[in-house]
Amino acid sequence: MNRKKNKTKNRRDFIKKGVAGLAGLSVFPSISNASSLKTELLNAEENKIIYRTMGRTGYKVPVVSLGSSTNEFLIKAALKKGMKLIDTAYLYGNGLDETTIGRALTGLPRDSYVIASKVYGLRDNNTGMPLNNSTPEEFQADFRERVETSLKRLRIDCLDILYLHAADNPELIKMGMIKDVLIELKKEGKTKYIGVSTHTNSVVYAIADEGIYDVILMAYNFRDEETGETRKAIKYAAEAGCGIVGMKALGGVFWDEERKQRINQKAAVKWIMQDENVHTTILTINTFDQLEMYMSLMNNPEITPEDREELRLGKNNTTIGMYCNQCEQCISQCPYGTDVPKFMRSYMYAYAYGKPAKAKETFHLLHSHKLLCGNCRDGCKVTCPMGFDVRRKIMDISRIWEVPDEFLV
Ligand code: SF4
Ligand code: SF4
Repeated sequence: MNRKKNKTKNRRDFIKKGVAGLAGLSVFPSISNASSLKTELLNAEENKIIYRTMGRTGYKVPVVSLGSSTNEFLIKAALKKGMKLIDTAYLYGNGLDETTIGRALTGLPRDSYVIASKVYGLRDNNTGMPLNNSTPEEFQADFRERVETSLKRLRIDCLDILYLHAADNPELIKMGMIKDVLIELKKEGKTKYIGVSTHTNSVVYAIADEGIYDVILMAYNFRDEETGETRKAIKYAAEAGCGIVGMKALGGVFWDEERKQRINQKAAVKWIMQDENVHTTILTINTFDQLEMYMSLMNNPEITPEDREELRLGKNNTTIGMYCNQCEQCISQCPYGTDVPKFMRSYMYAYAYGKPAKAKETFHLLHSHKLLCGNCRDGCKVTCPMGFDVRRKIMDISRIWEVPDEFLV
């Protein structure tokens, strides 16, 4: 097959998978006005929903929360049903997510929801660290500008939680210019609390030790059961007073790359709810049926032997699955220092979550590494404890670089 045909096939593969990810969208129901919404929000407190307090923030929130969404009606319905925390980010949907959430929240009492957004400043796309050639003043000015933009889009004066977005290096957590700008924004009333979103256990420990961060948004799910490493890190941070919000609860969404064997969503969410150090978990909710299903778990999170079987937990489990737990054991094994965990995240976004646009966004952070695995003709030096053939996955996801952005969703 020539290069042109290859490109066309690549586009088709990713487009097909992206569209498949949207296939469950249902028709929007009608929604009541703001005043009846207020009543329902108050009534929700009386339902048997399990609430947990987010560490030193004192926010009392249901154990399940809403991940970012561009469906205004779904956002309103989630609040009406009793959810309280909505998570989003400056980057998501090039601002469309925050704009939509801002519209959905307009007219609601400010204390009826908790809104969290994430921002990162000028950074080196290869390392995730601040740009070498930017001064602390430039970094902080840019960071502030992004926060102001987020506030405008959300139509509020003050966030509840402002996260440093996707910080996967403990050095970032200790950096003076980052801490200073976050603390100043908190003092100025641009946010009530500050936090960090991460996929990395070492960062969770660093956050807890630093003592200035109020909340951690951390990737965590049933795939951690065997090692318990993330559970330990989360316990450490919760005991230090941090509010803990879980993400990536579905552990890859599908067991297989063909997206035929879906992970049991109910069982996966119940698994994370068992850990009382996780105060709430943000979930991507695409349909009203999904919303109903997650709401039904809020007062009945008991995990059964059948749930555990669905999650393939136990000694005889040999399923590799799609989820990379970001343990980072691979980084030191690669002679070229390839950031394998980020490639695996990009791969997961494309194949497991059906979000090729997000996969390319993550891949963008890695573009200078894309050909290194191709040069390793005598085989990959990495042995992944999850059993991933990392070279094959990296070579595969590298194709996404060829697909124009407008073909991706
Ligand atoms: S690829 Fe394997 S070794 Fe590397 S971070 Fe993921 S699970 Fe850990
Ligand atoms: S093939 Fe393996 S050892 Fe070679 S660059 Fe890629 S990850 Fe590193």
